[in-house]
Amino acid sequence: MTAHTRPARALATVDLGAIRRNVALLSSRAAASGAATMAIVKADGYGHGAEQAARAALRGGATWLGACSMAEALALRQAGIDAPLFSWLESWDADFAPALEAGIDVSVSSASELARVAGASARTGKRARVHLKIDTGLSRNGCPPELWPTLVKAAAAESGVDVVAVWSHLAAADEPGHPSIDRQARRFSEAYDLAREAGLTPLRHLANSAATLTRPDLHFDLVRPGIAIYGLNPVPESADLTPAMTFSSHVVLTKRIAAGEAVSYGLTWTAERDTTVALVPVGYADGVPRTLSGRMDVWLGGRRRPVVGRVCMDQIVVDCGDDEPPLGAEVVLFGTGSEGGPTAREWADTIGTIDYEIVTGMYRPRVQRTYPGAES
Ligand SMILES: *Cc1c(COP(=O)(O)O)cnc(C)c1O
Repeated sequence: MTAHTRPARALATVDLGAIRRNVALLSSRAAASGAATMAIVKADGYGHGAEQAARAALRGGATWLGACSMAEALALRQAGIDAPLFSWLESWDADFAPALEAGIDVSVSSASELARVAGASARTGKRARVHLKIDTGLSRNGCPPELWPTLVKAAAAESGVDVVAVWSHLAAADEPGHPSIDRQARRFSEAYDLAREAGLTPLRHLANSAATLTRPDLHFDLVRPGIAIYGLNPVPESADLTPAMTFSSHVVLTKRIAAGEAVSYGLTWTAERDTTVALVPVGYADGVPRTLSGRMDVWLGGRRRPVVGRVCMDQIVVDCGDDEPPLGAEVVLFGTGSEGGPTAREWADTIGTIDYEIVTGMYRPRVQRTYPGAES
């Protein structure tokens, strides 16, 4: 094998067809309530690749894209994506001119942000497309309700500013029935009514993945699913989605060890009988949480097998019993789980986090990302 064909040590394989199909499911649910779909591709598409995920989402029926920052949105424009693009989080002194020049919609939560957007419009001669954000209870960004009437009137009076939308973000939509959801929805409606009274006719958007899947009454004009487009479902029983990312490596060495021998740093696992162990060259520097030590399986040779001993920076060891996998055999650390193998959700549940953190954590230089049969 040449260096070119040798499998990567750590490989994130992204199924763009799965993203397209997940978006098709989400956007058909949105369309049933008259809403369009903004696919969220922030944080490099939750670790899947922003541009590739964006193109797959557009093929699946999304008509808008959302990215966290202007910088993320600009990268998509520069890649030649001409769909409506929205970004919502900047530094306190950001210059909005690049967004206006590139036709990127921006979010405004405060009078100071409005002033900077209006200033950028005056300097560039470009109209600003603004989504006014109301804080309905998450208490992150967004305009507090008491300042909202002033903000909407000021925005309505700005000559260079078009108020495209009123929007907000939910705190606990992944817990269907949580009382905060209806409370936030009520405050959202009040904020929208005040914008109408100020003479504005904005779109409305509120729903993340969980609300897209469970609260059609909150779809309004546009839904903003993120994690679900990657096939990870915050309300698992609400739809059948396909995880798009498979994280894998391969066997680089096997050996027999005798009963009583221990494995990896700290010698935390001891073989109870003679066994074959396989060395796999991925570790916590490749996104395998060290806190999974002794608590994870891999899919190797058509079955689950336990990782034994500590997860190291660069390697893990798999107990194969009396099987001897060939060198180069594929080792799946997480994937779709369709055959019973581990998933990102399983990792997250084991270590007390969410699958969002697992997949976004795969965006790192040592992990090679590939798009088999890319449908671009
Ligand atoms: C991340 C994010 C979303 C998507 O949330 P998911 O739970 O991943 O669907 C939507 N809107 C905003 C403002 C976000 O920050």
